Amino acid sequence: MSAPAEVKGWCPGALRPMLSGDGYLVRLRIRGGVASAAAARAIASCAQEFGNGLIDLSARANLQLRGVQEASLQPLIEALRAHRLIDESAEAESVRNVLASPLAGVGDDAAFDVSAHVRALEQRLVSDVALHALPSKFGFIIDDDGPLSLSTVSADIRFLALREAGAQRFEVRLAGCEAAAVVDACALADVAAGLARAFVEQARTCDPPPRRMAGLVAAKGAAAIWRAAGLAPLPREAKPSPPPQPLGHHTCGASGWLGLGFAFGRLGACDLTWLADMAQRHGARELRLTPWRAVLLPGVDAQAAQEILAQADARIIIDPSDARLAVIACPGAPACASAEAPTQEDALALAPLARALAPAGVALHVSGCAKGCARPAPTPVTLTARAGLYDLIAAGRACDAAALSGLDLDACRAALRAMASSEGVRP
Ligand code: SF4
Repeated sequence: MSAPAEVKGWCPGALRPMLSGDGYLVRLRIRGGVASAAAARAIASCAQEFGNGLIDLSARANLQLRGVQEASLQPLIEALRAHRLIDESAEAESVRNVLASPLAGVGDDAAFDVSAHVRALEQRLVSDVALHALPSKFGFIIDDDGPLSLSTVSADIRFLALREAGAQRFEVRLAGCEAAAVVDACALADVAAGLARAFVEQARTCDPPPRRMAGLVAAKGAAAIWRAAGLAPLPREAKPSPPPQPLGHHTCGASGWLGLGFAFGRLGACDLTWLADMAQRHGARELRLTPWRAVLLPGVDAQAAQEILAQADARIIIDPSDARLAVIACPGAPACASAEAPTQEDALALAPLARALAPAGVALHVSGCAKGCARPAPTPVTLTARAGLYDLIAAGRACDAAALSGLDLDACRAALRAMASSEGVRP
């Protein structure tokens, strides 16, 4: 078996790892976001044996093993392959970018169980080599309209299960397009493949070719894409959904599920092993991965939830009002070679002040450089590291113009306090 391809700065996978400040980052795309307790244990063991023991849960519900040294790459790939945790090729793992409702098939709060459609789409993307030309970040969402809506997570092609009597159908939307089509559930993989193929063919006619659906829709309009896939969309308002709240215990039928959050999505191998043990002992023997830095344990009733929480350490977040949910940070130094500050450490130190800026949601983004990987969207306050100090950007992104510059941690605290007390930012 040849050594995995090394691509720096590319959207990484397991077979195409990315070199970072702490070694290679190896991203696992867990099928359907469902990891059995056995798979979770295997991943934890691989992280410990071949990496530095740290695992990141990404904003697309992937698990990223960190700190893998070059000599460990091939043995790691072989171990992952033995546990059936990776795809046959780098192209297959790249194109299989499907995010599904994390509670698919759990309880009866969803429009219907979308699990089989998720598997069908994943298989189609892997087997249809024409679709391997899709850009690596091009992604699909399959939302079951259950209690944890994916409407706030971006996707190039989005399917939403419809609540209709006597039929299982999906609404399908393209990023950047107001209209939507309605299709039979059993046609989902064909429809997704048709739209994706239309994207590949039409993007090639643009200079430069757009890498996301919204770019192609902006450049050429959506009509030709729908037409090429044999669909006739109609104007259709997007359904409003409450913000997802995955943390803590939720009753569901006779049982329930438990959501456990991790600041910045950072877990240790021991955390993943502990989650696998808890799933094995109290739940449905599996973990559900979410795009909200939280892991769900399905099949956990209130009594079992209490027993699990009694053993959880303080790093685990279960309270939706926890100040750590007010901050977001990229891996920073020393994990990323481009980082100019230890972002996660600094973000945790600033979290209580960040919560005072806004009662809910992310109020502070701490970025190791102007690239702003952790949050492309604007944030009430962004701190962008530069030469060990921070620039402060109000209501902007990491690369935007700074209102204040050269702040150490104490100066950041003073600026956040002033903003929270409405004194604003004084340049
Ligand atoms: S924002 Fe910069 S420092 Fe942070 S992970 Fe991305 S490239 Fe690295």
